[in-house]
Amino acid sequence: MDSVSKGMASERSDGVLLGRSVSRGFGVGSAICLYGDKRQYLKHRISASDSESELGRFAHARQLAAEQLKEIAGQTGAGDGQTGIFETHLLFLEDTSLIRRIESGIVEQLMNAEWAVDSVIEAYAAKYRALTNRHLREKYVDLEDVGERLISTLGGGVKRNVRITDDSVIIASTLNPSTLMEIAAHHPAGIVTEHGGWTSHTFILARELGIPAVTGVYGVLRKVGNGERVAVDGYRGEVVIEPSAGVLAKVEGPDTKEKQRRVEHDLSMPVVETSDGIGIRLRINLDLSRPESELTAIGEYGVGLYRSEYLFQRHSGYPSEEEQYKRYREITELAGKSRVRIRTFDISISEATGRRNVEKNPALGVRGIRLSMRNPGQFRSQVRALLRAADGHPVDAVIPMVADITELRYADEIIAEEKACLERESVPFGEIGVGAMIEVPSAVFIASELLDLGNFVSVGTNDLVQYMLAADRDNDAVAENFRSLHPSVLRALRLVLEAGKRRQKTVSICGEMAGSALYVPLLIGLGARELSMNLGSIKRISEVIPLVSFKEAEEISRTVAELPTAIEIEEVLRREYSLRWPDILKLNL
Ligand code: PEP
Ligand code: MG
Repeated sequence: MDSVSKGMASERSDGVLLGRSVSRGFGVGSAICLYGDKRQYLKHRISASDSESELGRFAHARQLAAEQLKEIAGQTGAGDGQTGIFETHLLFLEDTSLIRRIESGIVEQLMNAEWAVDSVIEAYAAKYRALTNRHLREKYVDLEDVGERLISTLGGGVKRNVRITDDSVIIASTLNPSTLMEIAAHHPAGIVTEHGGWTSHTFILARELGIPAVTGVYGVLRKVGNGERVAVDGYRGEVVIEPSAGVLAKVEGPDTKEKQRRVEHDLSMPVVETSDGIGIRLRINLDLSRPESELTAIGEYGVGLYRSEYLFQRHSGYPSEEEQYKRYREITELAGKSRVRIRTFDISISEATGRRNVEKNPALGVRGIRLSMRNPGQFRSQVRALLRAADGHPVDAVIPMVADITELRYADEIIAEEKACLERESVPFGEIGVGAMIEVPSAVFIASELLDLGNFVSVGTNDLVQYMLAADRDNDAVAENFRSLHPSVLRALRLVLEAGKRRQKTVSICGEMAGSALYVPLLIGLGARELSMNLGSIKRISEVIPLVSFKEAEEISRTVAELPTAIEIEEVLRREYSLRWPDILKLNL
């Protein structure tokens, strides 16, 4: 149930590739294969007459990479072991033999710059990996970092070299959210990947953008070639290469089109009542820079979660206070009197520095508030930007990855100190509320204390499920273990919601569960009164809520939370819904 639909990843005898649907809809187009890790790119041959401009592009990318490294070395500050690393990276950028090899890849083998960088860096890294001297051997990590940065400063190769159109199907091993954001403006027809999950940021974005997506298609880069026609069935989780007219007629029929309702954004009221009159507040999760026409919806609903870390995609290193202020202010002005909850940067140390492999397990490492506490200068800039954006508008700071009360105390203290500074400097600002994300299991058990200290809490069910069940949300191989309906998850949600009720403080549910027609009645039954979701889910959830009676939902939630497994819970839920509210099951299609 956590994926939109489930299927075993394999190939059927008729050549249909089977995966897992993570964004509904149907799309047909020409395959565009993307390679690379952090920055993704296309491999293609250039013409001899283009080699001169490709060399120019590479020279420019080197210069930009050097500037970024100097800037990041300054931001992270000396004394934390980072500065020396960045100096090593700069030396690699100036290594003439490395540079010449890349240039000859462009001029002699007519590789596009990204491809040449990647293949030469890989060849050099392999040599380092084979060395016996440990100190020298480990340099391969730095080399790979430099390669990533160069591919990044080359612009990923996506915009510049090959046009992605609304007739393109993106094929990748893993598609990064940043790559999807770059290509989103070109409206690709579909996405097919090997890895990812229902709650991966990439597929949260794909659903928001209405791009059909299938994941769990292993070996897809070997099976599909650039330019081949591909049909992506985001209902069944199937991919057809060179689909026949018969397949197209079947999947492009009026019935399928009718089902693509989620891309419609005509909205209802921000507070929707259950059939027995309980008001449920709906808010919007915002990640993208969208056209004004769509953003005006925020005015009514407010923002339950703004993922500020997306600002990182557009800048090298941390965005400045001014850059942040501009963006936050844009949002608060669009929201007017409605509340805007902005999450402070939820990034890992590797994302902050652009270096790979800094930590063995970044999901359990220095990320979210832990990174902010190690980087107080950057945290203070963000807090100042938030306070300034709150001038005349209700704003909350949402603190990610809180595992301990001291982390929320820290955020609270910095907010108080920066308020005092702005006051002294006579810079206009407004009051901001503060609240913890509840997404680490420990936070569930200190929810009362977190509510006492803050103004609200936001429950991030995506991470909460991942951490409670030790099932990586980005790993398709454990998609079956990622169970939002696990009894431990439901009991955790109940604990937090009851703590909020006792303290009369808001518990906002902002993970993907809050936008799912199947989960929402259960959340309401457990006591949820505020749900924050992608814009694309608002219409469907507004239709679900009036069908539900709180009294019955509460009864159902009590019964299912006592069941021992997610599978049994799902069975009972489906049975109860089909008896009481069959339309909900239809809306979940
Ligand atoms: C969550 O974890 O549920 C959440 C809302 O945050 P994100 O998906 O950005 O981790
Ligand atoms: Mg999270």
